Amino acid sequence: MSELRVVTADLHVHTCLSPCADLDMTPQKIVAQAQRLKLGMIAITDHNSAENVGAVIKAAAATDLVVIPGLEITTAEETHILGLFGSLASALAMQELVYEHLTLGDNDEELFGLQVVANELDEVEGMCSRLLIGATDLSVDLVVDAIRELGGIAVASHIDRESYSLISQLGFIPPNLKLAAVDISRQLTLREARARFVEYQDYAFLSTSDAHDLSQLGSNPVQLLMAGEDFDELVLALAGRDGRRVIENGD
Ligand SMILES: [Zn+2]
Ligand SMILES: [Zn+2]
Repeated sequence: MSELRVVTADLHVHTCLSPCADLDMTPQKIVAQAQRLKLGMIAITDHNSAENVGAVIKAAAATDLVVIPGLEITTAEETHILGLFGSLASALAMQELVYEHLTLGDNDEELFGLQVVANELDEVEGMCSRLLIGATDLSVDLVVDAIRELGGIAVASHIDRESYSLISQLGFIPPNLKLAAVDISRQLTLREARARFVEYQDYAFLSTSDAHDLSQLGSNPVQLLMAGEDFDELVLALAGRDGRRVIENGD
């Protein structure tokens, strides 16, 4: 078996494409900050879009930082689901489905903020005109199924938060939902989350920053025991298979 090592990751990061994120969340700045913090892996998860993922991957190309392509999808129930993928193409295929089901119109920049599409040099390529902060008309089940059909994994966002989480919107996590993990926000440690969500012990708990600005990036990292920094290893770690796992409470 290949040697296992500890990888520090932040798997829920917004860029300047998310209207609510800081304009400093550009590909170059995100990669530089992640390197400064010695993160081995980040996932880019903008609201309902993956348009900046490719630029962050390119910005990280000359570094040892691994960028996992993703999106944070708003379901019809107004819950947030992270879709993480093994390739940019899969994330963009998910984006295509999401765009077909984002039916509420265009972004209002003054009300919600700019949605900057950037390139790997931090140059502005344009603005995304869709209402990314809006909800799709896709149910949670459909979103999770679509992510999985594209080879991705679904993670329930910030289950401890009082808005846009499965628990805040539905009152519970549907037991049939094929989630790879549940995301715990900066408000709780994994130990506190384990104590609070006793009925969900079987899930992998994933601490993330949900960073919307550079100071938040990496502020609530997860440590993963893996044989390398790639998507397949991440899937194994969240499933707790072949010795891979999420390290909780420093054990
Ligand atoms: Zn969210
Ligand atoms: Zn988020």
